[in-house]
Amino acid sequence: MKREEMYGRLKAHSGPWDMIVIGGGATGAGVAIDAAARGYKTLLLEQSDFGKGTSSRSTKLVHGGVRYLEQGNVSLVMEALKERGLLLKNAPHLVRDLGFIVPSYEWWESPFYGLGLKLYNLLAGKYGFGVSRILSRKETLDRLPALNPEGLRGGVIYFDGQFDDARLLIHLIATAWEQGATLLNYASVTGLSIDSQGFVNGVSVHDHASGEQFDLSGRVVINATGAFSDSVRKMAGGDVKPMIAPSQGIHLVFDRSFLPGDNAIMVPHTSDGRVMFAIPWHGHTLVGTTDTPISEPSLEPVAMEKEIEFILSTASLYLAKKPTRNDVLSMFAGIRPLVRSQDIGNTAALSRDHTIHIDQTGLLTICGGKWTTYRRMAEDCVNQAATLAELPDRACSTQQLAIHGAHSDAAKFGHLWVYGSDAPAVGDLNRPAQLHPDLPYTEAEVIWGVREEMARTVEDILARRTRSLFLNAKAAIAMAPRVATLMAAELGMDERWTGDQVTAFSQMAQFYI
Ligand SMILES: Cc1cc2nc3c(=O)[nH]c(=O)nc-3n(C[C@H](O)[C@H](O)[C@H](O)COP(=O)(O)OP(=O)(O)OC[C@H]3O[C@@H](n4cnc5c(N)ncnc54)[C@H](O)[C@@H]3O)c2cc1C
Repeated sequence: MKREEMYGRLKAHSGPWDMIVIGGGATGAGVAIDAAARGYKTLLLEQSDFGKGTSSRSTKLVHGGVRYLEQGNVSLVMEALKERGLLLKNAPHLVRDLGFIVPSYEWWESPFYGLGLKLYNLLAGKYGFGVSRILSRKETLDRLPALNPEGLRGGVIYFDGQFDDARLLIHLIATAWEQGATLLNYASVTGLSIDSQGFVNGVSVHDHASGEQFDLSGRVVINATGAFSDSVRKMAGGDVKPMIAPSQGIHLVFDRSFLPGDNAIMVPHTSDGRVMFAIPWHGHTLVGTTDTPISEPSLEPVAMEKEIEFILSTASLYLAKKPTRNDVLSMFAGIRPLVRSQDIGNTAALSRDHTIHIDQTGLLTICGGKWTTYRRMAEDCVNQAATLAELPDRACSTQQLAIHGAHSDAAKFGHLWVYGSDAPAVGDLNRPAQLHPDLPYTEAEVIWGVREEMARTVEDILARRTRSLFLNAKAAIAMAPRVATLMAAELGMDERWTGDQVTAFSQMAQFYI
C-alpha cells in the first residue's frame, strides 16, 4: 500500500463514491472491507494514522466476554464467540488461542466459575477454542508460577483469543485495499455537505500531506469515528442529542518476570466489581483495565493517577512479585465508545453491543461493540447503508474472506510472525540491525512500514507498525532518532523534518512513562 497511489486514486475518481467511511479504526476498516468486497465504490478517510484511536489501545483479546455471560447477555456472548472463531480462521497469523486461569482463593470459586465457563464453552459450539476445566492448586501454580500462592486453593482454566490490535488493523486496511477500496490516512473530514432536501451527500476533506482542502460526494456517508461520533454528527447541523458516553480504560506493561509461562490471569471481580487481566504479550506482561467515565474524548488520552494506583494495587493481590511504579515500562489509555443509556450512570454497565443510528440527515453512525465483533458490525452496517444509498443488494462475503497476510504457521517467522505471509518479504529487505537491545524490532520493519504500510511519522512506526511505545516507552524514545533518519531517507525528507519528528514523538511518549 502506498499513500501516493491512494491519493492518486482518490483524485482520479469521478462521480460520487457509493460509500464514504469516516474513521480508520477497527469499525471503519471492517466496513471498508465489507463494502468493497460487495463491489461498492468505497472510500475511507482517517484524520490521523490508521488505528490511532481506541483500536490500538485495547486489552488485545478476541473474546466472547465472560462478564456479559454473568450479566445474562447470552446472545451478545454467542455472537462474539462466533466472531472469535471466524477471526481465528481468517487471520490465523495474528490471533492465537490463549489459556486464562481464574485463581480460586475461596472454596466456592472453582465450582462456581467452573460451571459458568462450561457454559461459555458450550455457547461457542463449533467455533470453540480449548476446553475449560477445574485445576488443582498444584496444576494452577505449575501453569502460573508467578501467582500469589498465599491462600490459593486452585483455579479454573478456559480459553479465549489474543491478538495484536494495531497489526490486525493494518492488515484489515490492506485487505480493504485488495478488495478495491481507497483508504487514506492523515485526511480529516472537516465538514459534511447537505443537498437541497437536507440529506448528507458528501464530505469536506483536509489532506495533511499536501495541505489541500477538497470536497467529495458520496451516496451514503458512514460515521465510524468511535468516541468522536457525536462531533461528526454535529457537522450536519441541527439538534444532535449525544449518543456516546466515553469511558477510559488504561493498561500497565511490565517485563515478563511478572508473568512467566504461557497462561494469562483473569480476575472476575476486582474491588470495584470489574474484570481484570494479566496477559503475556510480545514477551511482556500486560495488565488492565479500568473503566472511568470521562467528559470529552481525546486522541491521546492520559492515564489518571487513581487508575494507575488501582491497577498496581489489584495486581499486587494476585502476583507473587508485587509491581511498583518503577516497574512500569509503558502505560496507555484508550476510550470506549459506549452507547449512552438515559438512566444508567455507571459506564461498566452500559451496552457493549453495537448500535447503528441514522440521523434525520441520513448520516449513518456505527458505534459501540468491540474489536472482536468488528466483522459482524460491518455486515450489519453495510446492509443498512446499501438500502439508504439505494444501491443494488449484494450479499456479504466476509465470513469466508482471509485477512491480508493470513498464514497457518506464522510462528516459523520468529519475531516477524505478525506480518504473516509478508514476513519473508520483510526479511528480504536485508536490514536485520536491531533498533534497541530490549526490543526485537529491526531496521527492515521501519522501511517496510514506510514502503508498504503507509507509515508517515515516527509515531506510526513506533506505536502501531511496531509496538515499541506500548511495550517500553523509554526504549521507544531511544529508538526515535534512528527511526526518523531511516524514514527521512525513504520519504525524501530533510534534517529539519527528522528533528521535528524526534521532538514530537519524545514529547508524546512522556505520557507512556
Ligand atoms: C481499554 C479498552 C480495552 C478494550 N479491550 C478490548 C478487547 O480486549 N477486545 C475487544 O474485542 N474489544 C476491546 N475494546 C473495545 C475496542 O477496542 C473498541 O470497540 C474498538 O477499537 C473501537 O473501534 P472504532 O473503530 O469504533 O474506534 P477508534 O479505533 O477510536 O477509531 C475511530 C477513528 O476515527 C477517527 N476520526 C475521528 N474523527 C475523524 C474525522 N473528523 N475525520 C477522519 N477521521 C476521524 C479517529 O482518528 C479514530 O482513528 C477495548 C476498549 C478499551 C477502551
